[in-house]
Amino acid sequence: MSYAQNYIRIKNSIPTNVTLIAVSKTHPVEAIEEVYSIGCRHFGENKVQELIQKHAALPKDINWHMIGHLQTNKVKMIVPFVHLIHSIDSFKLLGEINKEAVKAQKKQNCLLQFYIAQEETKFGFTKEEAIEMLHSPQFESLQNITIKGVMGMASFTDDETVVKNEFLNLKSIFNDLKQSFFINNTNFDTISMGMSGDYELAIEQGSTMVRVGTSIFGTRNYSNK
Ligand SMILES: *Cc1c(COP(=O)(O)O)cnc(C)c1O
Repeated sequence: MSYAQNYIRIKNSIPTNVTLIAVSKTHPVEAIEEVYSIGCRHFGENKVQELIQKHAALPKDINWHMIGHLQTNKVKMIVPFVHLIHSIDSFKLLGEINKEAVKAQKKQNCLLQFYIAQEETKFGFTKEEAIEMLHSPQFESLQNITIKGVMGMASFTDDETVVKNEFLNLKSIFNDLKQSFFINNTNFDTISMGMSGDYELAIEQGSTMVRVGTSIFGTRNYSNK
């Protein structure tokens, strides 16, 4: 099947209120163009350099999603054009994004990334850390940031019960934060969870945004870059 067919099959199989992000990291501009041509306007990348190059080469009505770990010194290169940053894992990073968003005269959409998996390597806040930040006056002062919701990555395991519980945990963090900090804020509406192997399970647990790479573009070839 072609990339476009894969995209359409997945798009048609998920609820219309769930945003499907085509994760195009490591894949060439031509592959993105194929999926763009049948209507996809949400693409995800995890490396700043690659994101910049693809943004420059491709149509400007694409919504670019930064889904990988973001270093503060690279923030200024993407804020002028990026649609949504999924990987906020510190107050320091948010402060830097706010500074660049002021310069770019925009409000930058961001998701708070949560540490929900058992693996040591995953970035993100714990619920307690996020609550502490959201309570702080320093956070209040970030005028050019729009917190859209939460993001998380489940453990890399075949055990569906483990994955399901991690998604439920993220959904409950979203609910608690909504209740405590964003009750009258309609911007706070996004739960980004689910990848090729687990997006159906994620949607069942309340995901509103899935990030799918391999099931659209095939396996990534890192040596090809
Ligand atoms: C690569 C990546 C994805 C997509 O993974 P697939 O298993 O290829 O669908 C989703 N989210 C993040 C954060 C990623 O880095």
